[in-house]
Amino acid sequence: MPWLRRRRRDPMSYLKDFRLKPWKGACNSAGDLSPAEHEAARRSMIETQLHRRGIHDTAVLAAMSSVPRHEFVPVEFRKRAYEDAPLPISDGQTISQPYMVAAMTAALHLNGTERVLEIGSGSGYQAAVLSSLAKEVITIEYRAELAAAAAERLARLGYANAHVHWGDGTLGLPELTPFNAILVAAGAPALPSPLLAQLAEGGRMVVPVGSLENQELQLIERTRDTFRIIVLEPCRFVPLVGAHGWKESLFR
Ligand code: SAH
Repeated sequence: MPWLRRRRRDPMSYLKDFRLKPWKGACNSAGDLSPAEHEAARRSMIETQLHRRGIHDTAVLAAMSSVPRHEFVPVEFRKRAYEDAPLPISDGQTISQPYMVAAMTAALHLNGTERVLEIGSGSGYQAAVLSSLAKEVITIEYRAELAAAAAERLARLGYANAHVHWGDGTLGLPELTPFNAILVAAGAPALPSPLLAQLAEGGRMVVPVGSLENQELQLIERTRDTFRIIVLEPCRFVPLVGAHGWKESLFR
């Protein structure tokens, strides 16, 4: 069986190969992957974490394929950027699991004409995905350092229709109301009433609601003054703080 026979190689020839293409597919000094490896990891994420779990919206899958998630995580986590998990960013906060980003985005049914409000910019990753699918994204972050870093990152990567605000997102942004879609990226104790008021007629909002430990993802559909609540799935987010969120003294 010739295909089982291995040709003996001069041990030095491996070194020669290495010299010829020293960094192709290899880690750099920061332990990062090559662009080709990030690309392959992203493709695998789309197939195994999203498509196979029921995310079939082609526009959402295309947006998730186009956003370089490894640019949104701290350098020490870049190798793990496409794992099926949330990852730490800073200040005890996390970048959400890819599946959750895709599921929340898909629930909004965006068609490219919307003004979207996101509460909890974090790394800016979810805002980048939304900005590929909507006309404009306004994202509010409570923690100043995260807000500044997300604004810098989104601008550097060319997401010109995503705008970061620093402040308490549970109050929304009355001066820019109404919003066609609202995505809350932190766990709320109850539906924040200012956000319901700022949702446009026919608008959709996704928000995790529940305890500090566990929440359910709720989709709210507004028809005139009626808000229909559809429970989507169980989820786990860091706490939403602020006037209509949790008191920080409860978990700090
Ligand atoms: N969407 C983010 C992940 C969000 S993590 C991403 O793609 O990386 C939740 C974020 O919500 C944290 O950054 C936290 O600081 C922020 N947050 C919590 N309460 C908030 C509030 N009241 N207003 C705005 N941001 C809030």
